[in-house]
Amino acid sequence: MDWTEEAEEKTKNIPRAVRGMAKKAIEKMAKKQDKEVIDAEIVEKAKNKYLGKEEESNDVKKIAIVRCHRTAEVCPGVGCLNAFQDDRVKFKEYEDEETRLVGIFTCGGCPGRRTGRLLDNLEKHDEKPDVVHLGPCMFYDEEQEYVRCPHIGLIKEMIKSKGYDIKEGTHH
Ligand code: SF4
Repeated sequence: MDWTEEAEEKTKNIPRAVRGMAKKAIEKMAKKQDKEVIDAEIVEKAKNKYLGKEEESNDVKKIAIVRCHRTAEVCPGVGCLNAFQDDRVKFKEYEDEETRLVGIFTCGGCPGRRTGRLLDNLEKHDEKPDVVHLGPCMFYDEEQEYVRCPHIGLIKEMIKSKGYDIKEGTHH
């Protein structure tokens, strides 16, 4: 995507360590607003949004990701995060919508009881997700490196009973 000089200039005070990520988020926002060029206005808008200076529109879809606690010992979650950030695979359906990741957490270990408590906490913080994505690590079968979650049925039932929409998978 093309950037105007003024827009590039405005990103220079974003810390170098997160600048790449911030620019990606700005491009995503611009794409969703049908902009072909990143100008200073969109950079400013994105900064206000991410710094919490602008009231969020009700149309923003809030997403939470739940992962297997056992798998998280060896998985930093990068596949889930990148797929969300780039609207890929199971997040592709949101590519024309504004989304925000409100939580990414593990089930807390078998039998996954922490999932309910953390979802309740999101609601308490006024961050109730519209959709809860369950990480692919919860659906592995024996042919793969991990064992399929034996509690997946109960976890899904509990999430549904709280009124959440569930989607299976993230980066696959
Ligand atoms: S309950 Fe399922 S998802 Fe959670 S740690 Fe156990 S196997 Fe993994």
